[in-house]
Amino acid sequence: MVNNWSIIIQNYLFPPTCILCGHPGQSEKDLCLYCESGLIRATECCYRCGALFEETSTAPMLCGACLNKTPYFDETHAVFVYTGAIRYLLTTLKFGGQLKHARLIGQLMAEQFLTIVEIPECLIPVPLHSERYRERGFNQAIEIAKTIAKRMDIPVDLDSIIRQRSTGHQTELSAKQRKKNMLNAFAVKKKLPFNHVAIVDDVMTTGTTVSELAKALKKSGVHRVDVWVCARA
Ligand SMILES: [Zn+2]
Ligand SMILES: [Zn+2]
Repeated sequence: MVNNWSIIIQNYLFPPTCILCGHPGQSEKDLCLYCESGLIRATECCYRCGALFEETSTAPMLCGACLNKTPYFDETHAVFVYTGAIRYLLTTLKFGGQLKHARLIGQLMAEQFLTIVEIPECLIPVPLHSERYRERGFNQAIEIAKTIAKRMDIPVDLDSIIRQRSTGHQTELSAKQRKKNMLNAFAVKKKLPFNHVAIVDDVMTTGTTVSELAKALKKSGVHRVDVWVCARA
């Protein structure tokens, strides 16, 4: 009851407004139905790494890269394709500090993840190196994870893992260079008392970053590591 009232008051004081077009949003969500229907969902993907497929299939499929070499993580759940409005929302979050976009993205991710059968015991947002964190003032993965955690009632761990090396801007590097650059980038400071966790990030491009993080988590004793991302490039 208390919760309902707080939502009613919040909707009255700050009515949800679509971030993309400015029209009224949906209940508690800063996105209108029309704009939401235009977002491109990642429906046909490799179940392990989220790589997008051209063809449709009814059975879960693995991509060539995963068949060739199994990544350190077990499953990837990507909600959208990194294009159009989703790309806009994520870049303006990361480089324009639009934190309300993180809330919307987290809501959209939680809506989809509520249908996942095996819910992890804890969420691990991909840590930023302290230098980068100071430069940006926030970590978009943490901001997104906080909304998901609240909606799905899963704890978030923010202090067991650190990024021990500054890895610079990965975007300008080739896949091979990325791999070398990310090697042992993460260290587990405190052993996690969980069997199953999910790494949370905004975009997954080659999967090198999350794979290194998953490697560190598995070494520390976590059995299953999934990856939850807003978008797959
Ligand atoms: Zn709209
Ligand atoms: Zn794959």
